[in-house]
Amino acid sequence: MSFASLGLSEEILRAVSERGYTEPTPIQAQAIPVVLSGRDLMGGAQTGTGKTAGFTLPILQLLTAAKPTTGKAPIRALVLIPTRELAAQVEESVREYGKYLSLKSMTMIGGVNINPQIKQLHGRVDILVATPGRLLDHLQQKTVDLSHVEILVLDEADRMLDMGFIRDIKKILAILPKKRQNLLFSATFSDEIKALADGLLTNPALIEVARRNQTAELIEQRVYPVDRERKRALLTHLIKEHNWFQVLVFTRTKHGANNLAEYLIKDGIPAMAIHGNKSQAARTRALAEFKTGKLQVLCATDIAARGIDISELPHVVNYELPNVPEDYVHRIGRTGRAGSNGEASSLVCIDEHKLLYDIERLIKREITVVQVPGFEPDPRIKAEPILNGQNRGGGGGQRQGQGRSKPRTGGGQARAGGGPRTSAGGAKQASGAGRGAAPVLHRSGGRGR
Ligand code: AMP
Repeated sequence: MSFASLGLSEEILRAVSERGYTEPTPIQAQAIPVVLSGRDLMGGAQTGTGKTAGFTLPILQLLTAAKPTTGKAPIRALVLIPTRELAAQVEESVREYGKYLSLKSMTMIGGVNINPQIKQLHGRVDILVATPGRLLDHLQQKTVDLSHVEILVLDEADRMLDMGFIRDIKKILAILPKKRQNLLFSATFSDEIKALADGLLTNPALIEVARRNQTAELIEQRVYPVDRERKRALLTHLIKEHNWFQVLVFTRTKHGANNLAEYLIKDGIPAMAIHGNKSQAARTRALAEFKTGKLQVLCATDIAARGIDISELPHVVNYELPNVPEDYVHRIGRTGRAGSNGEASSLVCIDEHKLLYDIERLIKREITVVQVPGFEPDPRIKAEPILNGQNRGGGGGQRQGQGRSKPRTGGGQARAGGGPRTSAGGAKQASGAGRGAAPVLHRSGGRGR
């Protein structure tokens, strides 16, 4: 399959080929003809699948084919994106793919001065890429006119809902012209997403490409058992030992991200934290330096990392496992994308065995365990609950869903079959069937990596 066979114009094909793409990804091959036909679309695809070009290329084509020739062009395509970084990246893609066309695009995001945006809206804007909050600000101030929107894209719809944007989105939808083409992309199809899609889409084509958790062959996943107090030392060791660059490290909390970045800097590793409390300028700068390789490590929370697209990111580290197993899939989806290899390493302490079990159940595979010599967990250390940011090992976080638990053991049954941990602290333990062994992760896998 080639891009040329998809019905795209010569100008668009030229830009695509200059971007270095030789053939469409599965979502592109399926979505481009559907969008070109004018049909609504429900796309099951997450970041990393090439979905951005999947909707951007045909939109550029549709807008060029029926371009108003006179007067000030109105906004005809609206792309709603949950995060600022992703919005900026998507608009950059629109500009790049449309560089041989005369369409104009604009990024509209919060966290930056609104006045330059108002000024830009006085000029021509064909494609508006916006985050919902700032778009609503403009709508309230009547500085944006959406009455000519022909195509709406709701990107990362599941993230939008997770981030509490549903009311904002409904307000925006109410303002748009009734007759329009709608494209909705989501990595998951929860009941909430289905309800949103039902209200939004008319006779949509359904396209679902394999989720990363089913196509993760390109991602080498590893679990490094370590005591919670020694995670920082192990992370420094791994980064230095293997000379890792462009490492995206996930923590559960902003505080944890800050602490870890400070610690790494003290250890001589250029690092920065990226999260919602940072100004937009600081986030943009951190991301830019990280992309160029100047910044070796970026410490991020799940929210901050959503939508960050850094192609060919070689290393993702779960400094702390996420509470929600799906977030693991999103996190490691940052690496090994579009044909390049990636490594996803998880530093797992005794408190996190249940989280690891839930993740493995979701991805339907056991992750290789690698024990780094010198960092073997101390068998005397007992599991502690992770509550409200108090977990000492790495900046804390909240743990939920302690109800089910399966022992993941080496030295005997580490935890009695499925007893809930108590909030008073400490896991219910079977202490290695009387041998005093603590939970040990010791499946297959190399040593000392
Ligand atoms: P996306 O899922 O849209 O965020 O895209 C993920 C990554 O894949 C981006 O870095 C794109 O530049 C890259 N990409 C998109 N389409 C292709 C393609 N057809 N061939 C190779 N890489 C692509």
